[in-house]
Amino acid sequence: MIDLDQNATTPVLPEAEEARRRVEEEAPGNPSSSHARGRAARRHLEDAREKVASLLGASPEEVVFTSGATEANNLALFGLCGLPPGRIVAAPIEHPCVIEPLKQLEKLGFSMEWLSVDARGIVLTPSPSKGVGPLSPSPSKGEGRGGGDGAADGFTASAAPPTLTLPLPGGGDKTLSPSPSKREGRGGGDGAADGLLASAVPPTLTLPLSGGGKKSWESVRLLTLQLANHETGAIQPVRSFVEFGIPVHTDAAQAVGKIPVNFRELGVTTLSLSAHKFRGPKGVGALLVKSGTKLRPLAFGGHQQRGLRPGTEPVGLAVGMAVALEHAVRTMAETAERLTRLRRRLLEQLRRKVPPVVVNGPLPGDADSLPTTLNLSFPGCRADLLLMALDLAGVACSTGSACSSGSLLPSPVIAAIRVPDDVLRSAMRFSFGETTTEAEIDEAGTRIAACVRTGRGV
Ligand code: PLP
Repeated sequence: MIDLDQNATTPVLPEAEEARRRVEEEAPGNPSSSHARGRAARRHLEDAREKVASLLGASPEEVVFTSGATEANNLALFGLCGLPPGRIVAAPIEHPCVIEPLKQLEKLGFSMEWLSVDARGIVLTPSPSKGVGPLSPSPSKGEGRGGGDGAADGFTASAAPPTLTLPLPGGGDKTLSPSPSKREGRGGGDGAADGLLASAVPPTLTLPLSGGGKKSWESVRLLTLQLANHETGAIQPVRSFVEFGIPVHTDAAQAVGKIPVNFRELGVTTLSLSAHKFRGPKGVGALLVKSGTKLRPLAFGGHQQRGLRPGTEPVGLAVGMAVALEHAVRTMAETAERLTRLRRRLLEQLRRKVPPVVVNGPLPGDADSLPTTLNLSFPGCRADLLLMALDLAGVACSTGSACSSGSLLPSPVIAAIRVPDDVLRSAMRFSFGETTTEAEIDEAGTRIAACVRTGRGV
């Protein structure tokens, strides 16, 4: 089988598997036990935590081990939002393990707003906009906020504070002004912001939602935006959203180990990762949580990991993850360069053999394209049938995320790009990894072309 489904999972790195096995054999104790066996396990666990932290630009206290990115995303979303009411801003192209918790939060009483996505599958970023200032608080009011919050300085200096706007799917263009009483209450030990970072929200920022309106950031509890898309490989401009003083979560499950990720430089509040996406063992991941963040746990009943994620830590899996991450970071540049060449090679082959072929998302080699991912449509050929034909032909690929395999519905990610119907219904994700070879790509190209011809009835 040629494995072109490596965004679903990657083959475990032998050194990571060996490290996991050795630790479980040599240090089988519970890391919370105070005797020698426990202390030995604790040492391995904390070494792994330090390694993961240093490879991702975080400090060890900021690393919370989880069972993977699904759990880490749930912990971040529920943990940061606190209690309703409040607004949550998200992108419609998120993985189901972000979308589904958001639906639960909506049922609990939060209101959802969706960022707009461009034709390449990249969310639109806030941009300076004139003319939406009148509803913003006056500079004098702005000066009173936040007790010296540096982020607000730029807004208090000018008579007409600049406003940042960004397009959302709904099309309206109204700026909502926070109520003065609410504004004054925030930023200095705000008791109402339970579960939130204690930072002031600059009062003059607006953001465009998918309905077209521009809304102030006031009362936004959380913005969540993945770092790289699992289906198109589009790298998202997360950095552009971190300067507004609201908590930002990023699902970096597809980014970590594939592109440089530095938690501190990114500036987000929380970041999730999953070991099996970068050749680590399955069943382990982490949530990075910025120091000083108030996060509500999802589970209760243990003191481990400062109560944020109670339960005995998976020592061997954490060690395996650290070894895999170290390897991925060390080999990252070379692998990315090689995979970009292989993606171009496959695309050229298919364009030559079975035109038309449409690329969904950024092109191989674009700066905002994840090295592992190539999403292609073959108009006239149904993706669900092509998937089955390729399975029989010995090529593993996907029509969406692994969690939705078995479903014949078109991908919501590709739908969000608003492609024509025959492009939507023929979209296939081919994803690569360190183990992918040129010979495999050439053979896969031949088999894919044959299946596409059959699928088109030619
Ligand atoms: N987030 C993204 C973007 C993913 O692609 C995946 C897995 O496909 C996940 C989260 C879930 O990760 P895990 O399998 O570790 O729960």
